[in-house]
Amino acid sequence: MSSNPEGKDRGPGRAGIRIRILGLPVDILTMEEAVARICRAWKGEQPFHVVTANLEILYSGLKDGEMARLLNGAELVTADGAGVLLAARIRGLSLPARVAGFDLMMLCLREAAQRAAPVFFLGAQPAVLQQALARAKELFPGLQIAGSHHGYFSDSEAGSVVEEIRARQPRLLCVALGAPRQEKWIFRHKGKLPPCVAIGVGGSFDVLAGRTRRAPRWMQQAGLEWLYRLLRQPSRLRRVSVIPIFLLMVLWQRLRGKV
Ligand code: UDP
Repeated sequence: MSSNPEGKDRGPGRAGIRIRILGLPVDILTMEEAVARICRAWKGEQPFHVVTANLEILYSGLKDGEMARLLNGAELVTADGAGVLLAARIRGLSLPARVAGFDLMMLCLREAAQRAAPVFFLGAQPAVLQQALARAKELFPGLQIAGSHHGYFSDSEAGSVVEEIRARQPRLLCVALGAPRQEKWIFRHKGKLPPCVAIGVGGSFDVLAGRTRRAPRWMQQAGLEWLYRLLRQPSRLRRVSVIPIFLLMVLWQRLRGKV
């Protein structure tokens, strides 16, 4: 999919509109539209990669060719962070809402339970994974767990993990290996995955398992979830430091465009 000077492409989001921020794609769609799109896609014949993109992921698309290729090749790129909405606004474009990874995963699990679509959970530490599975079954009665695998496997074991996923034939594959490892994992193995929707969900299994907490709702609404996670985990400082850099780059591009 190629960019154009208007910053808009025909893409898989709302009415096919996909904007570009510094050349990187983000689909214009609400949470409800994202869920509806995913529910249609898991009936398809091909793997369907969903990236819930925050500014750290988009920034890595500027620095890392593989990330740029996977973002451009993903069937859906949602605006995970408030920073992405702000970047779009600076760009002079608008996105309707955040489509945060955890919320998206939970709504997809609810739909999967209602529509009898089997789900595979890949990622997190073994104990966390088991707790997350138990909680998911509790929250979504009828949820079909096609299979699961913890996230601490080596590159040489990746082939057998893919084989296991193929054998279990899930319709929804939640991959919680942390960004950008999970995005790269899906991208590298997409050709061998069964037809399913594969979503990178970051630390969502830890939240589902009750091991970590999301930011209070007021912080989420104020676009400060990144600050909450930084305060709880100061080692994220380096990751978070790219946010102002990315925003300044978008501002610079906008000003240059105006001149
Ligand atoms: N993880 C994993 N395998 C790894 C590294 C991380 O399964 O080799 C898991 C980790 O246990 C956690 C998740 O990936 O459940 C990463 O959570 P984090 O909050 O760091 O992800 P983010 O949302 O920031 O990408």
